[in-house]
Amino acid sequence: MSRRRQIYEGKAKILYEGPEPGTIIQYFKDDATAFNAQKKGMISGKGVINNRVSEHIFTLLSGIGIPTHFIRRLNMREQLVKQVEIIPIEVVIRNVAAGSLSKRLGIEEGTQLPRTIIEYYYKDDALNDPMVADEHIACFGWATQEEMHDIADMAIRVNDFMSGLFAAINIRLVDFKLEFGRIWENDYSRVLLADEISPDGCRLWDMVTNEKLDKDRFRQDLGGEVEAYQEIARRLGLLPVDPDTEVLDLESHRKNRGL
Ligand code: UDP
Repeated sequence: MSRRRQIYEGKAKILYEGPEPGTIIQYFKDDATAFNAQKKGMISGKGVINNRVSEHIFTLLSGIGIPTHFIRRLNMREQLVKQVEIIPIEVVIRNVAAGSLSKRLGIEEGTQLPRTIIEYYYKDDALNDPMVADEHIACFGWATQEEMHDIADMAIRVNDFMSGLFAAINIRLVDFKLEFGRIWENDYSRVLLADEISPDGCRLWDMVTNEKLDKDRFRQDLGGEVEAYQEIARRLGLLPVDPDTEVLDLESHRKNRGL
């Protein structure tokens, strides 16, 4: 068995000490949780897909100049990343009303938002990750105002890039969650995009059928979660295309569009 030191086990990942100082290994599990871990289950093969999808998106993002913690993928379930001090804020970016926004404000799910919304949640399971404002973040010193400026800036750039990436494969990026970390160089710190970007933390709807291709399939007991994650990977070009399914997809696509 592994002789590496485990640093932390979260709901979907395990973190191990990396081979060099300042690095860690992220191991992607198949475990799935929802509603602050009140619902638990497994999505078979999810870890392998999330590792690959996250690698793909982080690599593309660093190509447009977003600083990230990603170094390289090591194997099917593991990637090497820079060790960062995680900023205890979940950054949620919304383009279309869904989930907690719809529930809280009574806005029908699927309503296109007239402008993108960024929300912040304080990462604390015991408190159920409460939504917070910039003022709370500054007041309690979770991040500096300069860091929050960089975070908001990056969140918008990531959203623009990812909306285009998914639109090109007929998927609507409804909303998603990002996490950031700080890295110290002498007395200075820098903010990097951290954690993962995968169907676990994004709402992804098929543009033609509105079918949900993300963790809502698990949250809402819709079934077909393994296939949904595979479909995302396939459309991103990360899984071989099944020629039979491809023909079927094309036919239903044509039918839906009245072609
Ligand atoms: N999200 C996440 N982790 C969380 C909470 C939310 O990855 O702990 C993602 C979720 O997948 C969705 C977006 O953030 O894409 C917005 O989630 P929302 O606030 O609507 O909460 P939910 O309905 O998931 O409780």
